[in-house]
Amino acid sequence: MKFGVHVSIQGGFIKALDRAVARDCELLQVFSQPPRGWVFPRVDEREARNFKKLLKEKNLTPLVLHAPYLLNLASPSFSLRLRSAWSLIAGAEVGEKLGASYLVFHPGSSREAPLKVGLKNLIDVLEYVLSRSRGNIIFLIENTAASGHLLASSFRQIGEVLKAFPHEKRLGVCFDTAHALASGYNLSSEEGFYQTIREMEKSFGLEKVKLIHANDSHYPVGSARDRHAHIGEGYITLGGFKRLVNFAPFQEIPCILETPRMSLEDDLRNLSTIRSLVESVSAEQAG
Ligand SMILES: [Zn+2]
Ligand SMILES: [Zn+2]
Repeated sequence: MKFGVHVSIQGGFIKALDRAVARDCELLQVFSQPPRGWVFPRVDEREARNFKKLLKEKNLTPLVLHAPYLLNLASPSFSLRLRSAWSLIAGAEVGEKLGASYLVFHPGSSREAPLKVGLKNLIDVLEYVLSRSRGNIIFLIENTAASGHLLASSFRQIGEVLKAFPHEKRLGVCFDTAHALASGYNLSSEEGFYQTIREMEKSFGLEKVKLIHANDSHYPVGSARDRHAHIGEGYITLGGFKRLVNFAPFQEIPCILETPRMSLEDDLRNLSTIRSLVESVSAEQAG
């Protein structure tokens, strides 16, 4: 399993690579555009070429982009849905230029409308986005912490979205552990972990999971509150992460940490904590 963290793009995308290297990352995640604004991203060709070259040289692949938080692809407002779709399409274009493999997004909320309506809107918008994105970037639906009319708080619901696109290779799932715990998946226990896996298998198949966001949760199971904690210092516990990183079907899946950061040391500590939980095959055989 490859590990990396989400790093800032302040000062440009190339600066993000330096931050990843300083953190001893094997891959990185960055925002495709400023996370809390509707600014459409712009990357000039030279910067993009340079970035791609460095990405390869430093062996930081696959590159993961994250869409801004403002997007709401399930909104009852047509104009907001359209704006969200354009923003996602623009993010994918930046991704193509930078050589990104994945673009993670939160599907949004149906707000005052019933969930069913939100789900239909989400599927329509995704159809539009996919038909207008020419590249190979894979769009990843991230599971959310259940609250209000937020979509994708269950893997069953993500499955309903994916079922509308049975042959689409450019759609997958990002599994966020803190959000899952907050939504009621008890990843700290063995039973809870395998129940979660079974629901994923039934809803869309484990091969659809392309990325893990490994975050511990500051609030307990089922709290519906989204606040990340350092690895092993929240309700998922070290035992929960140990089970996750040693789960055989996930071995080829990259893992990004979005844990709290006051300084560089926080990232270094969280990364070394989670890496220390990986059992090498030989050690397992020996034991
Ligand atoms: Zn996440
Ligand atoms: Zn979160």
